[in-house]
Amino acid sequence: MKILVINAGSSSLKYQLIDMENESVLAKGNCERIGIGKGIFTHKRFDGKVKKIEVDMPDHTCAFMQVKDAILDSEVGVIKDLSEVSAVGHRIVQGGAIFKKSELVNEKVISDIESLIPLAPLHNKAHVQGIRACLSVFGESLPQVVVFDTSFHSTMPPKAYMFAVPYKYYEKYQVRRYGFHGTSHRYVSARCAELMGKDIKDLKIITCHLGNGSSLAAVKGGKVQDTSMGLTPLDGIMMGSRSGTLDPSVVTYIASIEKGITPEQMSDLLNKQSGLLGISGISSDDRDISDAVDQGNERAILAHEMLEYHIKKFIGQYAAVLDGCDAIVFTAGIGENHPHHRKVVCEGLNYLGVKIDNEANEKMIRGNEGKISTDDSKVAVYVIPTNEEIVIARDTKKLVEGNV
Ligand code: AMP
Repeated sequence: MKILVINAGSSSLKYQLIDMENESVLAKGNCERIGIGKGIFTHKRFDGKVKKIEVDMPDHTCAFMQVKDAILDSEVGVIKDLSEVSAVGHRIVQGGAIFKKSELVNEKVISDIESLIPLAPLHNKAHVQGIRACLSVFGESLPQVVVFDTSFHSTMPPKAYMFAVPYKYYEKYQVRRYGFHGTSHRYVSARCAELMGKDIKDLKIITCHLGNGSSLAAVKGGKVQDTSMGLTPLDGIMMGSRSGTLDPSVVTYIASIEKGITPEQMSDLLNKQSGLLGISGISSDDRDISDAVDQGNERAILAHEMLEYHIKKFIGQYAAVLDGCDAIVFTAGIGENHPHHRKVVCEGLNYLGVKIDNEANEKMIRGNEGKISTDDSKVAVYVIPTNEEIVIARDTKKLVEGNV
């Protein structure tokens, strides 16, 4: 069975075609600048053969046409006939309180995802465009499945997901913590249990997804108890260009200074001008910050110190939430590639009995997976490259086979 995994953004569409026989990636690619002048389409086959073209993609339907042409192409393609694709799995950012698990797509599901657009305006709108474009290019008979970033977090108890603002905002407007990166937290927590040779039901795990966007989750017995992102992905630790958690008065005070600032401009300030970028004034990319740190740039050093402090603080919170912790997992761009942050964070977790193996830690970069704590560490610490696509493909396979 071959499954096409889709991640549709407002101006981009990423895809992977996965052979479920051995869970290998046959091809992957990206449509960039959809609806913005000349688009860029990149397709890479498993053997490294690449197709990269500049092409107008005024909408998601045109982008899907490129994907279809590429996977069928005589030079870079991987299938002979479209019927070889058994199903499509879509990543959906916001499932709200409606979707607690992955679902087969039908009109009701699409309209429910549409109803959540106010909670994730850019993402959910693009996802619906992606689903509709997929229907028009691949036809109604090809099963489609939606997998939500929020659904792994739907096990949080109300005391964790409620914000202490007037209750009507929850009742009328669904203002609450939803959490994001759920598919990643789900994958790495399950994989951590596998690597430890234990049943996830018996484990308390803190998962740290540290990328351009970052979130941590407290997972007990395979169920999320709390997570750091909130109503939107702005909450939690500081990120590439997002502020993360702050005193809400910072927002109202800045609004009083910047007279006439609109909610959209404030959102831009907190989402796109803050975090590593806002503090360092250099970049939202941690590699650039590391280069500046090497040159002694003080604001870059401060940005790194803050980031490590935030990660450590949230791990401490979640150790309290879980009443202890068996394992900590680092994943995503920074979590998988930055031994220095892992070392600083873990060295600050003495009180939990965390002991890091420096040699193992240094080796765990660029896709390597394994334990970075010593054998006598009370908490096992792992680096596990995330794989959201495989979770989406597995859920899609299960749903189309009726095994749920
Ligand atoms: P992500 O959102 O998971 O793609 O992660 C993006 C972040 O990870 C950026 O801040 C990058 O600087 C960092 N990152 C990604 N790959 C590497 C790498 N090979 N070495 C160091 N940092 C990396």
